[in-house]
Amino acid sequence: MRVLLLEDERALSELIAAQLAGEGHAVDRFATLADADAALRAVEYDLLVLDLGLPDGDGLDLLRQLRAAGRRLPVLILTARDAVEDRVAGLDAGADDYLTKPFHADELKARIRALLRRPAREGEGMRLGNVVLGADGHSLFIGGRPLALRRREQALLAYLMRHAGKVVLKEDIETSLYAFGDEVASNAVEVHVYRLRRKLQTAGADLRIHTIRGVGYMIAAGEDAAPGRQA
Ligand code: CA
Repeated sequence: MRVLLLEDERALSELIAAQLAGEGHAVDRFATLADADAALRAVEYDLLVLDLGLPDGDGLDLLRQLRAAGRRLPVLILTARDAVEDRVAGLDAGADDYLTKPFHADELKARIRALLRRPAREGEGMRLGNVVLGADGHSLFIGGRPLALRRREQALLAYLMRHAGKVVLKEDIETSLYAFGDEVASNAVEVHVYRLRRKLQTAGADLRIHTIRGVGYMIAAGEDAAPGRQA
């Protein structure tokens, strides 16, 4: 998942980013409302972790602006303000959850897992052909058998499955898999697609990742899948 972290305390920001990266997320860190706002206009983030006291204003203003624009991404507020009225103001502005500093790393990770699970839970995960991706985004089953993928391959599969039957641009895949500043080889997406295809095929998945030359990829249930390999 791609996460925007807006927090101006450098040490705390680095710590949180390291924890989120350890959970397999691509994290962009910003310290001002202006920079975060620009990034939010450019990228579809899966989660916003938002500090309130920022050098160029109040995080709640950014949150209200996002909600007014119809952006539904989950938002976790991090703040030293712990008065009840501050929490209420945060939730009223459209925050999904609220964590008071100082907090324990495990609590942060648990809250974030819960927030990222929310939208998927409604659909009980995703299914395409005999491939089932659990609502937690981590468990994957092919014909009922678990399959382990590397985290970017898993993120790629989730992205393609969310857009099943539609052509997705290579640039959009890259944007969903990598944070700004990540070292990205020019053929990174191709390499991930190649490996993912091989693993899915070996596991007997009855779906296909089609290459749309010069544009991107499309995943679809495959008619020519290997029958008899299903569990
Ligand atoms: Ca602050």
